[in-house]
Amino acid sequence: MTTFKSLGLNAPLLKAVEKLGFETPTEVQNKVIPILLNDKTDLVALAQTGTGKTAAFGFPMLQNIDLSLKSTQGLILSPTRELCLQITNEMEQYGSELKQINIVPIYGGANITEQANKIRRGAQIIVATPGRLKDMIRRKLVDISNISYCVLDEADEMLNMGFYEDIKSILTNTPENKSAWLFSATMPPQVHTIAQKFMNKPIEITVGTKNAGTKSVDHQYFIVGGRERYSALRAVLGMNPDIFGCVFCRTKIETQKVAEKLIQDGHKAAALHGDLSQNQRDAVMQSFRKKKIQLLIATDVAARGIDVDDITHVINYQLPDEIETYTHRSGRTGRAGKLGTSIIFVTKSDRRKIKLIENKLQTKITEIEMPSAEVIFKNKVEHWIEQIKNTTVKSDFHPFIEQTVKGFEDLDKETLIELLLSREFRSFELHPKELSFSDDNRNGRESSSRSEGRFSDKVINAPGDKDRFFINLGSRDQYEWTTLKDFVRSYLKLGMDDVFQVEVMKNFSFFSTHKKHRDLVLKSFENLNLDNRNISVELTKKGKTFPPSSRGKKTKNTKSKKKY
Ligand code: AMP
Repeated sequence: MTTFKSLGLNAPLLKAVEKLGFETPTEVQNKVIPILLNDKTDLVALAQTGTGKTAAFGFPMLQNIDLSLKSTQGLILSPTRELCLQITNEMEQYGSELKQINIVPIYGGANITEQANKIRRGAQIIVATPGRLKDMIRRKLVDISNISYCVLDEADEMLNMGFYEDIKSILTNTPENKSAWLFSATMPPQVHTIAQKFMNKPIEITVGTKNAGTKSVDHQYFIVGGRERYSALRAVLGMNPDIFGCVFCRTKIETQKVAEKLIQDGHKAAALHGDLSQNQRDAVMQSFRKKKIQLLIATDVAARGIDVDDITHVINYQLPDEIETYTHRSGRTGRAGKLGTSIIFVTKSDRRKIKLIENKLQTKITEIEMPSAEVIFKNKVEHWIEQIKNTTVKSDFHPFIEQTVKGFEDLDKETLIELLLSREFRSFELHPKELSFSDDNRNGRESSSRSEGRFSDKVINAPGDKDRFFINLGSRDQYEWTTLKDFVRSYLKLGMDDVFQVEVMKNFSFFSTHKKHRDLVLKSFENLNLDNRNISVELTKKGKTFPPSSRGKKTKNTKSKKKY
């Protein structure tokens, strides 16, 4: 059995390994560390996040850095700020026993002067996102002209995100004789091009795809009607009350809507998408990491680089266009030796895509039948019983036991349990009348009548429950749906979820509120004047989403591209 010592790591690094509790090297570490420690070579490694690849390039880089010099010797490029900070954190832990090491992250959306100051104090290793690094090179705030090591981490993600030109420009600022190490989960043509153009006879390493198609992830699919996705999601949640999961949607609008519906239904959920500010995104991620929220509803772009170890389920609310995106999604679960489940909601007509994924991943995707409301209920009750049995007894209540027992004296056990059950699950409908549910929200439009459907325990947005308003502010006025929503609800002093289904057009927008707020909305905006302009808010005609007085163009965000 190999050990970190037999791979050639020096004493301070071995001490860090011990502190971290790493017992044996992972496959990528076994393959990569000896090469990078002993040979001055370029390297291309196919390895996913979660395989231990950061340590695979991190240890050799740390061991080879000349600590007596303050100049920048190592550069690590990563696709997102999130990942950039994670890598920095990992590298700091790996180098925790190296006294003079200084690792500095630089990324967009933060104060550039502060970052430049940190670099000026001497950063032997820089971890950077491509956009910010290019900017700092241009402003001569960073000098990478003498680096010895350059890592392109998650190269496929960086190229997916459109960083090709930035990477090219950055690499032309690095010396010819550096060692370039490229890590990527997949090898699309653009990554190949980078390797060919900018690397010198790289050694190629492939690591068994840890997360895709291995036993650590159980892949399942549900056949759903086009309008049943939300019901299916509720069913999955009902069957997995302890879920800690990530739900992937295709559009920002759908992401927000699903999150809002879940919150309204009493789940601890939050949306993560590109219309949120960096601070909002950080807050969401922090809550998710700390498990204050159970469900993260995310777009693929916003979820890039997320590295949370305990995710139990990945739910594909809709299939992505590219199979590779599915690999990335499902790779968020089944990590760090734990088992995970990846669930796909697929319509009958799209079922053939399941076969394509099976072929590509070389794994079986099992069809799961949608559980009935009875089965879900039974499961919920079992979970509730378990929770009660596992409750820690609070001895402070002891003096009140007698009083409580007395209070229930006239009830037999069955009746008492029935009452408790009815109270706990008062909103769960075993036999709902309304079965249809529309979440067919392409273009961000909502249907005018909708109910929660089969597995609902609460009916929201039922016909007649909400009002839809037109407002003469739009993207022309620099509003996006999040900022307009914030403006309307803060102006009306309403709560977070009281204004919903916000749809921003060029010259005007729509939003919905509960009917009880109708007067408040109409009266509050009556005499509002912003920048010498009268703000007009009107009720839309039932079911119509064009302005009361003029027709407008709808926003376009439908993806028709299908690559299966
Ligand atoms: P990465 O693939 O670099 O994102 O690493 C995934 C996680 O595995 C990180 O939290 C590392 O700290 C951890 N890790 C890396 N190498 C080992 C190892 N040899 N043994 C146990 N955990 C490791």
